[in-house]
Amino acid sequence: MVFETTFYDILGVQPTCTPEELKKAYRKLALKYHPDKNPNEGEKFKQISMAYEVLSDPEKKAIYDEGGEAAIKQGAGGGGGGFHSPMDIFHMFFNGGFSERKFERKTSNLIHTLGVTLEELYTGTKRKLALQKNVICESCEGMGGKRGASQKCAPCRGTGVITKVQKIAPGLVRQCEERCRECRGLGETIDDKDRCKECNGRKTVRVRKLLEVEVYKGMVDEQRIVLYGEGDQEPDHRPGDIVLVLEEKPHPVFKRNGQDLIAHVQLQLAEALCGFQKVIQTLDKRDIVIQSYPGEVVKHLSTKCVMGEGMPLQQMPEEKGRLIIQFIVVFPDTLPVAVVPEIRKCLPNLPQEPIPEDAEEVNMRQERKNEQTKAEKLNQINSCIDYPGSDELSEED
Ligand SMILES: [Zn+2]
Ligand SMILES: [Zn+2]
Repeated sequence: MVFETTFYDILGVQPTCTPEELKKAYRKLALKYHPDKNPNEGEKFKQISMAYEVLSDPEKKAIYDEGGEAAIKQGAGGGGGGFHSPMDIFHMFFNGGFSERKFERKTSNLIHTLGVTLEELYTGTKRKLALQKNVICESCEGMGGKRGASQKCAPCRGTGVITKVQKIAPGLVRQCEERCRECRGLGETIDDKDRCKECNGRKTVRVRKLLEVEVYKGMVDEQRIVLYGEGDQEPDHRPGDIVLVLEEKPHPVFKRNGQDLIAHVQLQLAEALCGFQKVIQTLDKRDIVIQSYPGEVVKHLSTKCVMGEGMPLQQMPEEKGRLIIQFIVVFPDTLPVAVVPEIRKCLPNLPQEPIPEDAEEVNMRQERKNEQTKAEKLNQINSCIDYPGSDELSEED
């Protein structure tokens, strides 16, 4: 199930379509609505590009399928980056697709978990995160030294790898590749005197960055917030993304089930029989009162619900789920013998149970957990007897 189908509809494909079908659909529509042919359909061309950009990227597609356009935009807005221009998409597609070198090389995504309370998921919150990341050195503009100072690394001839021949047996050799130590796999070296003082020729520097992340009302456990392009920077690489995975912390009162909240409310038997009023504090710190109606008997483990007091829906935060209350009725251990007849009178009449004359009276006692009957014990002893050959059997086990 996908959250919404707008992007699929724009391209005229099913959510189950293959990457090939997606490409075909984009190709057809992009050529039809390209501004050269259709100057008045700029908006349409933009929509097609945006839909294709999202649906052709497995990560973005997953976010879209789960949370729709709003989820994608929110991820993009959180960290700059955002969408490519429709023309970029068009050119990337028709000049050999997305495998164009500059887009193929991407630094890896940084994945963090972000612990959030149920209260934060209910009301929404902004969180500040500090993290270390590599950014292009400003001092040398990512060149590692003075312009033209970098030279092709001699030992690896600029490839960054050294091919080694290993003898593994007489007359038998194996070739293996190793990262060049001289240039640390970069394929180039910079003379000490020309090397950038700021980054020591590394081209990037490590900085502490503060990011503000918006956790929206109604977000769920394991939901991902993607800050596009906020990952490590490296020359000639598209920066990867920072992916925050929400981790919902357990709450002492409420348990979440999708949009519903579940709470257990303890009632004394007197309250279950004679009525009660209880105050529940909501996740946004309001007090709500629940009560029984006159004459109502609340049964142990029975449930009731309050509409609109559950979790908000992420896409429509004013829409809230249900608060489901399960009652735990606490019975007294004994009753004063004198009051039993009085209580009896208040309860529904019971038909007399006929007891046959030859019925035997037996004693009941408290049942203990894991209690074994004599027959079970005997059975266990028998199975432990060492029969000849039983050693072999147990070894195979
Ligand atoms: Zn530098
Ligand atoms: Zn080298």
